[in-house]
Amino acid sequence: MRKFAVLILLALLVMACNLTQAVQPNRNDASNTQVVQSSSVLEQEQVESTQIDPTDTPASQSTTLTPPAAESSPTPTQELMQVGQPGSDGLGDPYYPQLGNGGYDALHYTIDLVVDVESNTITGTATISIQAVQNLSTFNLDFSGFEISQVLIDDVAANYKRQGDELTIIPPESLWNGETFTATIAYSGEPEPIRSKALPIRMGWTHFDAGIYVASEPDGAASWYPVNDHPLDKATYTLRVTVPEPYVVAANGLLEDKIKNEDNTTYVWESINPMASYLVTVDIAEFIIQTEEGPNGLPIRNFFPPELADDAAFDFGRTLEMIDFFSEVFGPYPFEAYGAVIADFPAALETQTLSLFGYQHVSGTRESENVVAHELAHQWFGDSVSLAKWRDIWLNEGFATYAEWLWLEHIEGADALANNVDRIYGFVSERGMRPPGNPPASNLFNGSVYIRGALTLHALRLTVGDEAFFEILRTYPQRYHYGNATTADFIAVAEEVSGQDLDELFQSWLYEEAVPELPPSE
Ligand SMILES: [Zn+2]
Repeated sequence: MRKFAVLILLALLVMACNLTQAVQPNRNDASNTQVVQSSSVLEQEQVESTQIDPTDTPASQSTTLTPPAAESSPTPTQELMQVGQPGSDGLGDPYYPQLGNGGYDALHYTIDLVVDVESNTITGTATISIQAVQNLSTFNLDFSGFEISQVLIDDVAANYKRQGDELTIIPPESLWNGETFTATIAYSGEPEPIRSKALPIRMGWTHFDAGIYVASEPDGAASWYPVNDHPLDKATYTLRVTVPEPYVVAANGLLEDKIKNEDNTTYVWESINPMASYLVTVDIAEFIIQTEEGPNGLPIRNFFPPELADDAAFDFGRTLEMIDFFSEVFGPYPFEAYGAVIADFPAALETQTLSLFGYQHVSGTRESENVVAHELAHQWFGDSVSLAKWRDIWLNEGFATYAEWLWLEHIEGADALANNVDRIYGFVSERGMRPPGNPPASNLFNGSVYIRGALTLHALRLTVGDEAFFEILRTYPQRYHYGNATTADFIAVAEEVSGQDLDELFQSWLYEEAVPELPPSE
């Protein structure tokens, strides 16, 4: 019986291939509607944010390769159309519905880049191992700019089209639900950072005086490789980056190989744990590399600009002590390596296994040690446990901010924490700072998700007591490690561990305008 069914399906597939190649992907297809639902308020915000976001690739420049028309196509019947449907062009994030794509699961990216650092041009090939999670006639990747020279599916040339930041690949044959295949995209050009929908700066591949850095949160990854750009689809990565002398390439994971070619060098970086696309980084400059061994032989590698190396060595000098401390509090450090890379970046970002810091965080006086602690703590909260939807950003930023406070408590004692909480609570309540659970989609990283988010955790600590609180802080990253979680998932862990009903506490701290009173401390 099974064999017979397969034969019928194969016959249908052959017929449908002719059909689906001639049919434009239908973005309003019924199979897509479930993932683009969102409340009217959020849709309103989305519309506003897309209006100020110019399309990176004007329609006139988009490449359209028309597949050969099917000869005398039969009328598509409902039955035939079920053989392969277009994957949706968004993953349905309530804030940014176009980020990511549906219908498949990206498993592994091999990104091979030859970089001319001076002119900031890339010749690249992305080879993506993908598993279909529905029968697919076409599927999308997020990708901005560049000339595409070739697209292959399992080494066979495939057609594609581009519209804005959506790359639609039309495989030579429909792909079956559960089938694993390889998409190869060859491209070249000058990467342009993407105007983010979530904050008023451009994100992604960025060229600066001394080299290049990549910081993509939340939507910059498509500025340098074709990607399923949403934390819901994490994958492992191989980054092969070729640069001329004297540049050095820092990237996520472990340096597996360094190949000296005639007039350039290829660095091969391997990430063995799943990673959200916004956490992938490639940083190129004339770095000085400092290495150390962390707890349990954890490799630490820091990439510092030569002129800042001495000051940075002091500023980042307590990283090992921090890893020890956070491992005790949150559970074992989740990845294969850690370190810092410093570039001309106006912020700091917890790029997985290799946090990125701007020059301004180097002082030689540990002035920014709270930021060092913050990005390290994100390796547990944000990187290992990732968001399922961007609206829950407080789960990243509130936790990393509270980790700063825990580090302060660790090195300076309980009074230092109490004074810090008093000062910040005063600031938040005086300003009437908006609730962190519903940040504006166009200003995702507003102060509330950090400090009212951290105060939410402190209120939890005062409510359930230290023993339950720290058990919650260990249980949550353990339960969702290498995966995704929502605010509801965290609240469920907190209620389970403490045995208390915490709905009111979280409701008032996360979602109500009025800043609640802090529970009394013991
Ligand atoms: Zn952060």
